[in-house]
Amino acid sequence: MISFNNVNKYYGDFHVLKNINLMINKGEVVVIIGPSGSGKSTLLRCINRLETISDGSLTIGDKAIHDKNTDINKVRQRIGMVFQQFNLYPHKTALENITLAPMNVLKKSKEEAKETAEFYLGKVGIPNKASSYPSQLSGGQQQRVAIARALAMKPEILLFDEPTSALDPEMVGEVLDVMKTLAKEGMTMVVVTHEMGFAKEVGDRIIFIDEGQILEVADPVEFFENPQEDRAKLFLSRIL
Ligand code: ADP
Ligand code: MG
Repeated sequence: MISFNNVNKYYGDFHVLKNINLMINKGEVVVIIGPSGSGKSTLLRCINRLETISDGSLTIGDKAIHDKNTDINKVRQRIGMVFQQFNLYPHKTALENITLAPMNVLKKSKEEAKETAEFYLGKVGIPNKASSYPSQLSGGQQQRVAIARALAMKPEILLFDEPTSALDPEMVGEVLDVMKTLAKEGMTMVVVTHEMGFAKEVGDRIIFIDEGQILEVADPVEFFENPQEDRAKLFLSRIL
């Protein structure tokens, strides 16, 4: 479903992604871990062309997303993204945050968009927060609104960039629980996280990245019990 072939990316002279080769299958949950500054966010953002790649090829299904002739907006409709900082519109209610893109992009009627939004607010466990503004919600609730907003576009792929890193510890679990449910339902997910419990329990594969290179690709149990690369061992010894 997602395929990186010899992908390189530079920021100016800085070689941020080095010869990335990675295939992600439909329904797979891939967890990307690695030190700060190693290129995890850049790799994720290349998937929906929030960053452009410098060379190589990157395809979603049969669409070459590096190709200038590809309608990137069409591809982006198939890919939801959830950020560390929620990125909700502060002057819109939870419901309005969720209905906006379905109405503007998918041209859904207000009624239909509202019904869909209410369904997903229920799904993420906050059915009674439709008319709350982001400032009236806890971080965990805001992130769940952001997930509901992504789901309302009926994406085929969800990208998560450290979705729990900005949360108080007691709210991490409620967001991870929603993500676990989505994973069980077969959503294709690429997740950058430092939540090693989640990675081990929910991940189908772990990708360890350091200094822009994929150093290790492993089954989660293998990776945590018996990491092969020295830098992966060092990383794990620092965070576990
Ligand atoms: P991670 O998510 O693993 O912490 P990032 O992908 O955010 O890493 O960043 C990788 C490297 O690229 C870092 O050294 C960062 O400073 C640099 N970087 C990120 N974004 C930009 C940018 N827009 N311009 C220049 N350098 C950048
Ligand atoms: Mg990052």
